[in-house]
Amino acid sequence: MAGRTYLGIPRERIPWAPTIDPDACIGCGDCLEMCPNNVFVLDEDEGKMKVATPDNCIVLCDKCGPLCATEAISFPEKEETKKLLQRLLRELREATLAAAAQGGAP
Ligand code: SF4
Ligand code: SF4
Repeated sequence: MAGRTYLGIPRERIPWAPTIDPDACIGCGDCLEMCPNNVFVLDEDEGKMKVATPDNCIVLCDKCGPLCATEAISFPEKEETKKLLQRLLRELREATLAAAAQGGAP
């Protein structure tokens, strides 16, 4: 089965996801409640939120960050991620053009 993609880029090549500082997280569940994408799971034993499925996070979304009262959620640098996306898109375009030039399917 084909994996998830973002603008044609395999999602797993894009390191965009929240990180939770376990020392700051109080396990309140607010992030889990507000995000519909099944990114988080509450570790009930530890009383801490975990990032269970990072690739479910929407690329460049950071909506849950400001919602966390203890500022436990952080994200990669947005500008760096945009630069990486531009590079990956360029590579994808070049690969598509090369495949087309060889008469193959992209
Ligand atoms: S909103 Fe913040 S403190 Fe609450 S569970 Fe999520 S990461 Fe932890
Ligand atoms: S950044 Fe957006 S998609 Fe990602 S976990 Fe937070 S609310 Fe969900």
